[in-house]
Amino acid sequence: MVLDTATLRVAFGVMALVLGLLFYFSSYRYTRSPYSGWWCLALVFFLAGSAAFLLDGTPHQWWANPLGNVLLVHGGVAVWAGARSLRDVRPQRWVFTGVPLVTLVASALDNPGTNTWSGGPVFLGAMCLTIGLASRELWRLEPGYSRVRVPMAAAAGGLSVFYFGRTLAFLLEGQNGPTFVTIFGSAVTTLVTMVLLVVVSFSMSALSNEQQTRTLRMVATRDDLTGLLNRKAFLDMAAELLHDPAVTQGTGALILADLDHFKSVNDTHGHAAGDVALQSFAGACLNTVRSTDLVGRYGGEEFVLLLPGASASRAEKIAGEISRHLAQIPTTDGLEMPTVSYGVALYNPGTSGVEDLIASADRALYMAKSQGRNRTVHSD
Ligand code: GH3
Ligand code: MG
Ligand code: MG
Repeated sequence: MVLDTATLRVAFGVMALVLGLLFYFSSYRYTRSPYSGWWCLALVFFLAGSAAFLLDGTPHQWWANPLGNVLLVHGGVAVWAGARSLRDVRPQRWVFTGVPLVTLVASALDNPGTNTWSGGPVFLGAMCLTIGLASRELWRLEPGYSRVRVPMAAAAGGLSVFYFGRTLAFLLEGQNGPTFVTIFGSAVTTLVTMVLLVVVSFSMSALSNEQQTRTLRMVATRDDLTGLLNRKAFLDMAAELLHDPAVTQGTGALILADLDHFKSVNDTHGHAAGDVALQSFAGACLNTVRSTDLVGRYGGEEFVLLLPGASASRAEKIAGEISRHLAQIPTTDGLEMPTVSYGVALYNPGTSGVEDLIASADRALYMAKSQGRNRTVHSD
């Protein structure tokens, strides 16, 4: 049985079309997850690219062949952008415009009217690069992501290596070389890609559902102005940390922070400037604490920090650092960053709960205010 490349390409195109429609109607339409959106787009590119190659050998080859190369490379870029969206990172523009553009130029200058492999090495190298980048993104996902990412990353890695082999064989032997034709030819590639697409579609919906769940969880636990934990999420997470003996023997500090005379920032410079000050304070907190500490917006211009393992003096030092960072943030329109008052309460395994701890810190904060503000007071 001889499987000619054109037949395989048609089969591949039909499969990409069916998968694209399935992805669109079963996933993207409901989840709007960027990951499934990128995949739908990638499949459209793969489908259109394969269709363009069907015009090889016709009078249209001179434009269809370079176009096919560019479309397939765009498909690779979309796969990479989708993988990147799982980490909430935007695609880099140079890959989007630069890589397809280089492919186009290389193909256009390589006699595309008569040469069915116009710009061959550049096209193959671009596919190796974009799919390799996609694989790298998937490996870099935090282990908390579903295990489905492993076969996805392996599939993309394998395909990238395959394209690397194709590029090498093409460069060493040319398009008619025995290795290139038998191992890395278009028929084999189409078959390999079809098998990989099946693996991918299998894992696709799991990853895009997970992406949507994460987005919803993020919206539910974050304060949308500052990006810090909201009050409820902070209280839930603090309660867990507080009673976890594995975390620094259940001791640490809680700081309640309140911006001083914040009302006058709003009154003098407007509500938008007040929002900037709140965001700046949030940034100053995040720049100061460790990644294992919790920082939340308790409400209005009040913030709360949980520092597992911190002593009274360390908590005081951190409060001082935050204020120093805040004062150093450059401002416009004569806005002066407000000073901050802090109340600190320490906890140990005997502490009953977060609410009591916050009440202690709040009493200390009240004292800091009544003693003249811009200072740190400890609850004891
Ligand atoms: P004190 O030093 O005693 O804490 O005085 P204060 O002015 O900071 O405290 P007060 O409670 O009187 O005012 C808090 C102000 O914070 C009033 C409110 O309008 C403002 N505020 C609360 N939430 C926001 C917000 O999201 N954005 C802005 N711009 N202002 C907010
Ligand atoms: Mg207040
Ligand atoms: Mg205040």
